[in-house]
Amino acid sequence: MQSSLLGMAGMAVAPMGFAACSPKKEELVVPEVKISFQEGIPPGKDLNEKLDFMESLGVVGFEPGGRGLAGRVTEIQDALKNRNITVSAICAGFDGFILAEDPAVKEKFDTTMREIVAAAGELGSTGVIMVPAFNGQKPCLPHTMETRDYLCEQLHELGEYALKCGTTVILEPLNRRECFYLRLVADAAAIARDAQSEGVKCMGDFWHMQEETSDYGAFMSAGTKYLQHVHIASRGRRLMPGEDAEKDDYRDGFRALKQMGYDKFITLECGTKGERKDTVTAAVELIRAQWQEA
Ligand code: MG
Repeated sequence: MQSSLLGMAGMAVAPMGFAACSPKKEELVVPEVKISFQEGIPPGKDLNEKLDFMESLGVVGFEPGGRGLAGRVTEIQDALKNRNITVSAICAGFDGFILAEDPAVKEKFDTTMREIVAAAGELGSTGVIMVPAFNGQKPCLPHTMETRDYLCEQLHELGEYALKCGTTVILEPLNRRECFYLRLVADAAAIARDAQSEGVKCMGDFWHMQEETSDYGAFMSAGTKYLQHVHIASRGRRLMPGEDAEKDDYRDGFRALKQMGYDKFITLECGTKGERKDTVTAAVELIRAQWQEA
């Protein structure tokens, strides 16, 4: 009797034991969403007021523009002291462009981009965002296989330089109206891969991702190996997330980011038609809610 009771107890306990243990092993570690703002997003008359507002919303990243960044390193470091906010990415700000046909324009890019990358490294940034060539930037190298090879070689050098500075360069695909050369997250990731430098990464911008057939597929195609940053805006008019109502559904993309264990920043890059403090606050709430739901 005693032994059979023990046996039953054992049988009863064993499956529960498995049940209690096995899901833990497979449990997905879902990162918290890390929201970041560009400098123009929060209300405030100066950087400190803007950062105060960001802190009040629990925003943890700050994405300054790259123009003049070398001259702002101390200002930004001082402003971020004793705050729970770090520099996320740096948004462009260089002169010239990497696919310029004119050597003087290419040289301008090389010089100014490296200045920004060095400053980004000092600020502990995740990387400097760049576009290979906007449609309006001419004369541009022709869209050929040779140009792609050249782009990868040039990015390799830039990526290695960025690594030495403690940061990266981040390719941003846009939409075809702005940059037909690079429109898809997967293509940016493939170029990053072919540049053969750990310092070359890519990002996705929910606004430009209207080019994609799937937000989920786009982020998954880059994976955490290449995906270094994300931009977000409303999906109808590029305003604060939520200002375009039901169009502003980010859950498919967020689901990919959560499954990937994406732990980098999502930066608001957009305008607003409403009262800024209200639309920005609502946007942060919407992003957090959809991240939970995804
Ligand atoms: Mg963007």
